[in-house]
Amino acid sequence: MPDPLYLLTLTEARDRIAGGKILPSELVDACFSRIARTEKKIHACITLCEQEARKSAADMDGKTPDPGKALWGIPVSVKDVICTKGIRTTAGSRMLENFIPPYDAFVIKRLKDAGAIITAKTNMDEFAMGSSTEFSAFFKTANPRDTTRVPGGSSGGSAASVVAGQCFASLGTDTGGSIRQPAGLCGCVGIKPTYGRVSRYGAVAYGSSFDQIGPLARTVKDCALVLSVIAGYDPGDATSCDMPVQDYFAATDRSGLEGITLGLPVEYWREGLSPETEKVCRAAVDTAVKLGAVVKELSLPHLSYSIAAYYILASAEASTNLARFDGMRYGMRTGGKDLLGSYTATRAAGFGPEVKRRILLGTYALSSGYYDAYYDKAARVRRLIAEDFAGALEHCDALLAPVSPVTAWKLGSMVEDPLALYKMDILTLGLNLAGLPGISLPAGLGPDSGLPVGLQIFGKAFDEAGIIGIGAALEAALPKLGEPEAL
Ligand code: GLN
Repeated sequence: MPDPLYLLTLTEARDRIAGGKILPSELVDACFSRIARTEKKIHACITLCEQEARKSAADMDGKTPDPGKALWGIPVSVKDVICTKGIRTTAGSRMLENFIPPYDAFVIKRLKDAGAIITAKTNMDEFAMGSSTEFSAFFKTANPRDTTRVPGGSSGGSAASVVAGQCFASLGTDTGGSIRQPAGLCGCVGIKPTYGRVSRYGAVAYGSSFDQIGPLARTVKDCALVLSVIAGYDPGDATSCDMPVQDYFAATDRSGLEGITLGLPVEYWREGLSPETEKVCRAAVDTAVKLGAVVKELSLPHLSYSIAAYYILASAEASTNLARFDGMRYGMRTGGKDLLGSYTATRAAGFGPEVKRRILLGTYALSSGYYDAYYDKAARVRRLIAEDFAGALEHCDALLAPVSPVTAWKLGSMVEDPLALYKMDILTLGLNLAGLPGISLPAGLGPDSGLPVGLQIFGKAFDEAGIIGIGAALEAALPKLGEPEAL
């Protein structure tokens, strides 16, 4: 029996379509069979786009694959924070439960132009605030490798859908780690691009100076291919950079790491890592050395302030971004006896507890009298952290760090303790404060839990190709995780 189609990598599926060996409909079929089989266990999707997907695939079946379209006939899922024309986009919130965008986000246009087929809108923490996908207003997503555990977040539905074989790639967003961390906890690859590399046009805003859209997929090559489709200048996003896009796919051809210097920031490798995380990630560093890399320790002295700085700044930005949800312009409306009553009733009913917590925190940090002590101070600390990263990257090609201090934890075990959950982001937030690119890839299974351990590679601004190359070389030499047994 040949392996089922859903086990192909995106690149293999694309090659088979290009070679006329399979049709887009067969891939779409394979994904929806997989959704039918796994969705009851993992709950990765908020909205399925089955009819539309089957129709697009049938239309494409009769056509010759266009070699200029990198994702011709490839099923892809999309985090439900990215606007899809005519398809409900909830951002994981009751507030937008029935919101049907009248337009496509920039990245969705790019996906469609490249021939991709959207299969589903994936579950997420409400407005992308969270690290476990337990703050979705609708339901919790489970980790495909152990359905009693969290998939990570906030793009947990995207990571779970990729690992469960429901699609060949997914788009997520990373404001403080939400692509890299679920990729790490579920055991797939995720890329957080440099701030400004991918347009945010049409992504529901959380922390606008942090948010970036990026791919999750089963291999580095697959992520590189999707990134090459979505990266590029967009005049519709004022922070999008008009810089040439590197050839990310070609960058994956690297095999060894000769001539590469990798920095290990000591702050990422000290206390707080679970023994198995440390063991698996240290083994990955040894692998890098065997591949020819020179590894050296260095320090990012201000990194320990990243949780405090991030949660002030991101909440401040969230509090202003979410002010638009007043029941008048978007989404739900709950009547009140007057205008103010309607605003407050709508916001009380529409937002969940974590979002309310962030709005309160952010509004407080921005209020007069506290602005200097909190917001302004955090903005200064952000600058120092960015300088630490830039300084470290002057002396090496990339930095290595674990993704999460622990492997996937039990569903429900931390949801009542927001601070404990914030602390879980300790290894991802720094990169977002600095605006730099990072890739997360599986380093192996933890010997104690049997669950995936992720490794991050941080790069210089706009050097996605550099970290993709290093990631591809490492991926080839690191242990393979295999298929999730829980499904
Ligand atoms: N866990 C972080 C937060 O809750 C990051 C989320 C994200 O990257 N969207 O803010």
